[in-house]
Amino acid sequence: MPAVDLHTHSWYSDGALSPEALVQRASALGIEHLAITDHDSVGAWRSLRPNDIPAGLRIIPGVEISTLWEGREIHVLGLFVDCDNVDLSELLKNQQLARKDRAREIHGRLLAVGVGGLMEYLDGLPCEAISRNHIADFLVRNGHAGNRQQAFKRLLGARGRYAAKANWCRISDATRSIRQASGVAVLAHPDRYRLSRARLSKLLEEFREAGGEAMEVSYSNLNPDVLRSLGELCTSYGLWASAGSDFHTPAREWMDIGRIRHLPASCRDRAIWHHPRWGSPALSAA
Ligand code: AMP
Ligand code: MN
Ligand code: MN
Ligand code: MN
Repeated sequence: MPAVDLHTHSWYSDGALSPEALVQRASALGIEHLAITDHDSVGAWRSLRPNDIPAGLRIIPGVEISTLWEGREIHVLGLFVDCDNVDLSELLKNQQLARKDRAREIHGRLLAVGVGGLMEYLDGLPCEAISRNHIADFLVRNGHAGNRQQAFKRLLGARGRYAAKANWCRISDATRSIRQASGVAVLAHPDRYRLSRARLSKLLEEFREAGGEAMEVSYSNLNPDVLRSLGELCTSYGLWASAGSDFHTPAREWMDIGRIRHLPASCRDRAIWHHPRWGSPALSAA
């Protein structure tokens, strides 16, 4: 397997690092092909210049789009996307607005209990896509929760006191925009949705029907049995197999850049690095 990581975040969404620091870290860890896949933002890609890229590293443009499918949030990655494409830009703009609207709704709920300052705090961050992780940090900083996990459990999660939903696009909207932008649509971390086998099959069926071409098979924290079963699913649906850590911060060393297992033998010949788009333009050192 080449030294790849095809799923990482910068501070343009909820990652801790600037795009420059992210590519430096990837290079130091021996990565040769890095996709930056921020939530609903391609800002990191736009901000990078060839001079920022260490020798031997290639940056693949990407994005992670939040969608709603049967009442659940499903994440769709777009890899090799043309970041200037009009359809994709329009979709990402709407997704960023949906994130801002959700934050405003939470802001309203906080104001009602006498807690001000959320929107000002968010405005001061470098992100283009406001995440609930940012809101959780605000609540922790202001003493309303002990840590992020608690903030989600008591305040922001589905049954939390200030919970609000974002108006995400559909899976088919995401796959269409990704394809319009010449990208490859990849179903992100399929085992994290806690779907029954039957519903996961339905999801894969509909994803493929909508133009989805690949799924993540190897990612952080996967046990070997799940990895094997994802490899088999991938092959049986005729999808390409992708691999990425979902890196957010150096503080979670078990999800560091490139810290992923090799693809299982069952889907190795369908690895995404054999996809015709793999060789498409990317950003490299000047
Ligand atoms: P968003 O895309 O803004 O809705 O934020 C979703 C992110 O919040 C996820 O990718 C997780 O990183 C984080 N998250 C969601 N639910 C929880 C939870 N129960 N505990 C901790 N983090 C969570
Ligand atoms: Mn995230
Ligand atoms: Mn995700
Ligand atoms: Mn992610």
